Amino acid sequence: MQFHLLTGVFPDIVEHPIVPFKQRFDWDGGFACIAMVLDHQKRQKFIAYFRRICAEGDFGEGPSSLDLCYILKDFNVPHKYLTMTFAGNPEHRFNGCYESLKRDVARLNFKLQHAKQKGIDVKKCSVNNQFLIDHLDMHGTIILLTSELMLFCDLCTPKKRHSESCACQIQPPMYLGCHIVLCGYNGLTQKFMYRNPLHDNHVCNIPYQELDKARKAKGTYEDVILLYNKTPQHKVFRNKDLTTSLAGLRTN
Ligand SMILES: [Zn+2]
Repeated sequence: MQFHLLTGVFPDIVEHPIVPFKQRFDWDGGFACIAMVLDHQKRQKFIAYFRRICAEGDFGEGPSSLDLCYILKDFNVPHKYLTMTFAGNPEHRFNGCYESLKRDVARLNFKLQHAKQKGIDVKKCSVNNQFLIDHLDMHGTIILLTSELMLFCDLCTPKKRHSESCACQIQPPMYLGCHIVLCGYNGLTQKFMYRNPLHDNHVCNIPYQELDKARKAKGTYEDVILLYNKTPQHKVFRNKDLTTSLAGLRTN
């Protein structure tokens, strides 16, 4: 049982229901995360207008976390964006030509300058695991930018990172950005639950310390998008609930 500043104790397990959405290409994982955090009606609209959103957004070689915030704002989804950079520094994300890189930097700088005017709450800060747990418990899901090379799942890739499952990767890049949706935690096993847009068949699990490394790797700028989308459908377990239900199973 963990201590909670507001309520006294944290639930041992929290899981928010997420409708999985698999990315189709190598550049649209961030969009898949958007689809996963929208409610049913907004998701249908997002899918219907996807081509138009891409055409108007001019996302270059892929959407940044700030681009995702602009889309969330357009869909009226309450959120906050935390990052460790206030400059358009996408050099770690892109492998494209110099002209394309220049356009992306200019676009991101423009969007940063106009974020406040647009009504997007951007804050420069670094957060720890306890902060993420608190948000999951109190408010809803979280979109995180991670380094795919550091991302780990001990369910689908035991003792192996996701990127290591790709045999064709002869020389791994220094950084490969991967947006994921953090959807819960298990305080008993000290693991976070997340949805990786690369997989649509299960909720992935990662130890707290491993996620910390993946989301603080060079190139991620510790981008965190906090969503305020908690629904009554989210599951909460406390240790005593589990003990009671296990006892019930044994006697039945
Ligand atoms: Zn997995």
